[in-house]
Amino acid sequence: MADGIAYDVAIIGAGAAGIAAGRCLVEAGLRIVILEARDRIGGRSHTVATEAGPVDLGCEWLHSADRNPLTAIAQGFGLALDERLPDWGGRLRRLGASAAEEADWYRARDAFHDRLEEAGAAATEDAAASTLLSPGGKWNPLLDAISTWANGAELARVSIKDYAAYQDSGVNWRVRDGYGMLVARLGTGLPVALGNPVAQIDHRGRMIRVEAAQGTVEARAVLLTVPSTLVAAETIRFTPRLPDDKLAAANGIPLGLANKLFLALDGTPPDLPPNSHVLGARDRVATGSYELRPHGRPIVAAYFGGNLARELELAGPSAMASFAIDELVSIFGTGLRAQLRALASSAWHGDEFARGSYSHALPGHAGDRATLARPIGDRVFFAGEACIPGDFSTAHGAYRSGREAADAIIGALDRKRIKR
Ligand SMILES: Cc1cc2nc3c(=O)[nH]c(=O)nc-3n(C[C@H](O)[C@H](O)[C@H](O)COP(=O)(O)OP(=O)(O)OC[C@H]3O[C@@H](n4cnc5c(N)ncnc54)[C@H](O)[C@@H]3O)c2cc1C
Repeated sequence: MADGIAYDVAIIGAGAAGIAAGRCLVEAGLRIVILEARDRIGGRSHTVATEAGPVDLGCEWLHSADRNPLTAIAQGFGLALDERLPDWGGRLRRLGASAAEEADWYRARDAFHDRLEEAGAAATEDAAASTLLSPGGKWNPLLDAISTWANGAELARVSIKDYAAYQDSGVNWRVRDGYGMLVARLGTGLPVALGNPVAQIDHRGRMIRVEAAQGTVEARAVLLTVPSTLVAAETIRFTPRLPDDKLAAANGIPLGLANKLFLALDGTPPDLPPNSHVLGARDRVATGSYELRPHGRPIVAAYFGGNLARELELAGPSAMASFAIDELVSIFGTGLRAQLRALASSAWHGDEFARGSYSHALPGHAGDRATLARPIGDRVFFAGEACIPGDFSTAHGAYRSGREAADAIIGALDRKRIKR
């Protein structure tokens, strides 16, 4: 970041959206700077090294890998992909459910999804997805637990229309060395000023003034890619203030919470087959989903969502590990306790530059994504996973949103050049 330079575009945030936009704008020959609060790029894409191999504290699955633009990019970088599909369907069986119980669960799950799809398409008022549960249904806790992992929130806080709009091809792959590593690699070489939180954006004058910790930059256009929770909390002060409908939209699409815990596993217990999943419990919402020996590594990966994730994060990493180990021991026996120890965990709720994990719409707020994404005039643009219909809450959605915003910025700056 150099003082006195007038940039074409200042991008706020170097996550998947900011990086995608930055690459497009540089390719278009524009002079840009990316201002990033953290001392690393990637945002909610973050791979960390552990003694048992790399683990992703944020995004991990190349969801809809068969149409995910980051799949081809990973392949272009020569990165090894793990194309085994997750056996999320086997989670119940490994918990001891009979074939009949499993069939009953699939019937209940499919019926719920049919109701979701139908209500999503119907010309009726939006409502909470919990209203689609069958009253007293035996599998309601499991459907709600799945929502905590998928949406980061219980069904009572999730919009039917938005949940139904999510598009998933069912093909989920992984980058063996980490999705966060892939996103960071994509950002290599971009002009990013790290450790540089933006505090204010003044868009009254001909040039927009962006005040950050390391100084003020001026730019013809600004692209804001910070999470919706931070837009809603106005952690960056705008002059003039962001319009009411923009703030209301950001409030309507909060980030839910999902956290991960990685446990080191000593030995290779035969009842813990590699790349297999198990549920902590089938009859309560507050339970974890566990992957045993991901990529064959000596790890058990725990996933917590919604209220449980918040409670465990606030209780601290050792409480999170105790909860996971207790659930695993209740399934696999007490012998396992001595074979597990905490390696790494995430804490996205308390992360001041995210304040959550991924976005979901509150009931009645499915339309807010479009409002959040809409530019102010043709100078202040918005991108990020919360801004994209269909692929929201994902890294590829963030990537697509960043590229779309970059195209819009290029068009707007071109139009201005022609007018001059
Ligand atoms: C636990 C977990 C699991 C996930 N699993 C998956 C998965 O398997 N597959 C998948 O596709 N997605 C997954 N996701 C979601 C995915 O990680 C995100 O949707 C995506 O990374 C969001 O990218 P983004 O660019 O929109 O936002 P971010 O990555 O949050 O980028 C925004 C950037 O803005 C920066 N910033 C914030 N405030 C300021 C400021 N004032 N000044 C400057 N910079 C600022 C932040 O530091 C950050 O770098 C997961 C996320 C989590 C947390």
